[in-house]
Amino acid sequence: MYLMILGAPGSGKGTQGTLIAEHLGIAEVSTGALLRAAVKQGTPLGLEAKRFMDQGLLVPDQVILSLIRGILDSKEAARGVLMDGFPRTVPQATAVDQILKDRKAQVDMVLLLEVAEDELVTRLLARAAKEGRSDDNLESIKQRLKVYHDQTAPLVAYYDQQGVVSRIPGMGNVDEIQARVRDAVGGKA
Ligand code: AMP
Repeated sequence: MYLMILGAPGSGKGTQGTLIAEHLGIAEVSTGALLRAAVKQGTPLGLEAKRFMDQGLLVPDQVILSLIRGILDSKEAARGVLMDGFPRTVPQATAVDQILKDRKAQVDMVLLLEVAEDELVTRLLARAAKEGRSDDNLESIKQRLKVYHDQTAPLVAYYDQQGVVSRIPGMGNVDEIQARVRDAVGGKA
């Protein structure tokens, strides 16, 4: 089973993705978390990615796709994967479609977390105060929201064409939103 969780920065992808992956007993892959770990360890990948991440820009597709290929080949991914923060661009989506097709699989469902823009900024600023993520400053937040609208939001139409998008109202508390996510995957799990 291959699930994607899609939404703007601050929409709750990480929180909801972790919970639903646990519930389904499948691996969760967060490209953002993998990149942050690489930055922390100072690997060549981390050094390259950091330049983009700090500016609120996307890391180049080929870098992300080699990460994803490695994960899809791993034993942990054998039962399926919940992808959080991937894909972020149409070329990433078409590439993963091809990778899955080669394995006689496909994207089963895309969970789209819908949250109003002013709430996104409030949440990201609150996270900045709490977690101190280096890309959670107002300038980078504005840039990431713009990148989301320009480069990632077109994926909704892309996946709508495949008929796999499930829209989840992302307002409310974590448990309420998780209940909606579980309802949405209920028919698939
Ligand atoms: P996230 O934790 O998903 O908000 O990602 C944090 C940052 O990592 C993003 O602002 C991008 O710079 C980078 N990133 C994460 N996932 C991707 C992806 N699929 N494609 C390109 N850049 C990504």
